[in-house]
Amino acid sequence: MERTLSIIKPDATTRNITGKVNSMIEDAGLRIIAQKRIRLTPLQAEEFYAEHKDKAFFTSLVDFMTSAPVVVQVLEADDAIALYRKIMGTTNPAVAEEGTIRKTFALSIDKNTVHGSDSPESAKREIDFFFSGTEIVG
Ligand code: GDP
Repeated sequence: MERTLSIIKPDATTRNITGKVNSMIEDAGLRIIAQKRIRLTPLQAEEFYAEHKDKAFFTSLVDFMTSAPVVVQVLEADDAIALYRKIMGTTNPAVAEEGTIRKTFALSIDKNTVHGSDSPESAKREIDFFFSGTEIVG
């Protein structure tokens, strides 16, 4: 079993579609083994996305991620990291595959509905960033 960190982003919480996103996650065979709704501070968003700090879109990314609540989750399945990336779809929803979360719900490359860890190392860092061990019930 593998774990990955998911974030349901502000464009989804503001449109009241977190349940619809969760249905797609569960239908794909991923189990939501931890979940909480939080409002990120600018410092938290900057730290979480530190790898992008030199990118042109960094400020708008931080502004967007702090603009409304997010739902952070730990998902578990065999090969959870790759499975979740597959059902999320590509970063830019315009070219995402039919049936993916981003193709179905995302509004643009920045308002793209979900985040998912991209490697085992990021998954560990990102899960530890938001959750303590006692908050995760597998
Ligand atoms: P992801 O792993 O598919 O989420 O993509 P990345 O890790 O490359 O980027 C992190 C997030 O930054 C993306 O989900 C987008 O919200 C945002 N982002 C990435 N590339 C761009 C871009 O070219 N323009 C803008 N505005 N946002 C971007």
